[in-house]
Amino acid sequence: MPSAFYGAELWYDISKTEMNEMEIAQKYVVKRFQGFEKRTPSVMAISSMGIWTISSFISKMKFLFLGRLLRSNRNSTQKQMFLCRLSSLISRECQFKVNKGFLQDLKNLNLPALFETITNYIDHGIYIQSKDIWKFVVIEEIQTQQKRQWVHDLSQDSKYLRFANTHVDYEPIIHWKLGIMDPSRLWEYAQLLYLMVLSTQEEQYCLACAKTTNDIVKHFILECSSLSATRDIFFEKIVNLLPVEDSINILNSDDDVLVECLLGSRTDVLQNYDFAEWQQFINLSSNQISAMLKEFTS
Ligand SMILES: [Zn+2]
Repeated sequence: MPSAFYGAELWYDISKTEMNEMEIAQKYVVKRFQGFEKRTPSVMAISSMGIWTISSFISKMKFLFLGRLLRSNRNSTQKQMFLCRLSSLISRECQFKVNKGFLQDLKNLNLPALFETITNYIDHGIYIQSKDIWKFVVIEEIQTQQKRQWVHDLSQDSKYLRFANTHVDYEPIIHWKLGIMDPSRLWEYAQLLYLMVLSTQEEQYCLACAKTTNDIVKHFILECSSLSATRDIFFEKIVNLLPVEDSINILNSDDDVLVECLLGSRTDVLQNYDFAEWQQFINLSSNQISAMLKEFTS
């Protein structure tokens, strides 16, 4: 992304249509990259990689550029131009004239805590002088805005619930993290993730057991009679892996909680497990679900 957006800090007045076109391209790429279907909700596809949307990325570039301008020598050409544009912005605002350009764009980005830097600079001549601290502040603020928007978007549709209960932080999802640590298991982790993002609300007919269901993922993992024997082996392995109390707790939990847990969530159960223990559980689950998928589709 950095090379594709070289110089983007100076793009200004980007229209909604232009931004939309860039974000459509980004959504297409992240879905292809992760092997998701085209209809996979973008809110899941982008956040499972933990990457920012293009608009957030451009916002970051613009505010980092502002930091460079503020820090540059007052006699430099860029600082002189910046001060000139800044006075023009203030004077045009006083005359209720429309502003365009880099500074107005910063104002329009809806990041008031960062834009406050400009007002502080105008009123008191102060700004964050450390490059590293400014970068940290900018990234934190945009990450917070990105996460707030993501949580809001995920709450808009009940079909996002399984994913929302599993992926609770805006960072690469557990399946991709484990895949990087152990590439030999990447395909099995990817299969778990694929089941998690699968849209499951329409009524579907199961070819394996001839029943209909409106949640094919839950049906496949917990209910389909064609997989009873393999499922029993899977659950027996869970009992052997975990302390008795925990395995009873998991296997007796609500069906939706159990499905989420088997697909990689620890929101309702397994919270007390450390990363290595959780990884062991996901390794078992992804391995067994992969075997069930093979049997289900053969
Ligand atoms: Zn079935």
